[in-house]
Amino acid sequence: MIAAVPKDDFPGEARVAVVPAVLPSLVKAGLSIRVQTGAGLAAGFDDADYVSKGATLVADRDELFSGAELLLTVRSLASRRGEPSPDLARLRRGQLVVGMLDPLGDSAGAQRLAAAGVTAVALELIPRTTRAQSMDVLSSMATLVGYRSVLLAAEALPRIFPMLMTAAGTIRPAKVLVVGAGVAGLQAIATAKRLGAVVEAYDVRPAVKEQVQSLGARFVELPLETAAAQDAGGYAKAQDEEFYRKQRELMAKVIAQSDVVITTAAVPGKKAPVLVTQAMVAGMARGSVIVDVAAEQGGNCELTKPGERTSFQGVTVLGPLNVASALPFDASQMYAKNLSTFLIHALKQGLLEAAPQDDIVRETRVAHAGEVVQPRVREQLGLPALVTA
Ligand code: NAD
Repeated sequence: MIAAVPKDDFPGEARVAVVPAVLPSLVKAGLSIRVQTGAGLAAGFDDADYVSKGATLVADRDELFSGAELLLTVRSLASRRGEPSPDLARLRRGQLVVGMLDPLGDSAGAQRLAAAGVTAVALELIPRTTRAQSMDVLSSMATLVGYRSVLLAAEALPRIFPMLMTAAGTIRPAKVLVVGAGVAGLQAIATAKRLGAVVEAYDVRPAVKEQVQSLGARFVELPLETAAAQDAGGYAKAQDEEFYRKQRELMAKVIAQSDVVITTAAVPGKKAPVLVTQAMVAGMARGSVIVDVAAEQGGNCELTKPGERTSFQGVTVLGPLNVASALPFDASQMYAKNLSTFLIHALKQGLLEAAPQDDIVRETRVAHAGEVVQPRVREQLGLPALVTA
């Protein structure tokens, strides 16, 4: 099977779907890999390293697409602010496309892939199960996002993170609050601790309290009814507006006392809840920083402008987008390892079949034979459930 790795041309994207280190295992699985010339350069991987590990270089993008049975991408085939990817026109019926396709953020994009007649696999939909952990691109990327969010905060903050006792006096450590202690939040806590900050964290899922404490941070207890805040998959469930109003009210004091607030609170497939209002930002000390990594899902802070750095009454609000792409070397290594593990598993478990039995293959399949086939994506599009034979 001929697999192609295009240079990812999603705006601002620096990652590459396949790194040289995973080529031997893909070749062993029966794939012949073609890589677009320069595909890995932005992430720090040379063409020569791909060739030495068994790939062939193809300079022309049209030729790369037309000669491939399988396309391995990061975000090349995802829509851009609702507009179709230019690569859509390069696809032909029957091809297989694997990548981050944003099927829940932009279900119209999934419909376009179905119309192109390809079998489209969205890696964001890898089930959050132990069996699929080594394929979980969302966890890999969230880990890097959590780390980087703290560096962004440290860089924007006019004070240092650690406590310093010097001849010039004692400097108190910075106070960091992490809202949302999922994969990104836990890594943010660990990174802020390493830099010497005093760290607090809050999450609606009571189950994370122990994880927060094991990292040496204080878990902020809010008197909210959170017993039903978690779904069977371990994710937060959406709450009603009254819950969020109460949460904001209870969090206001903790936020006012923090030098840095890192917000990562997300509910899968939904807009992020607004947890930090303009009034709460106004209550923070001049020079404080908010890093809203939920910016991609609309943001947890009312003042967040996705992709921008703004300031309100001396408080800096950052809404970084595609944060993992700012660490393209490690992000590509992790992504490529997840992708190759998935591919090797999926090729054995029905990736090419019409009705795969394996849950990982089934749940990640967004489009097949001209139809959107993923139940959650169909639901978003208002399409009736497919009747399986
Ligand atoms: P996410 O990105 O969807 O959300 C980030 C965090 O925000 C979550 O912890 C969520 O509880 C929290 N949140 C949502 N609404 C909130 C609110 N109003 N206030 C405060 N916090 C709020 O989640 P994620 O990081 O991708 O993963 C969440 C969980 O999924 C993990 O902690 C874990 O239990 C599970 N998971 C399992 C696996 C696996 O088994 N393979 C892998 C990854 C994650």
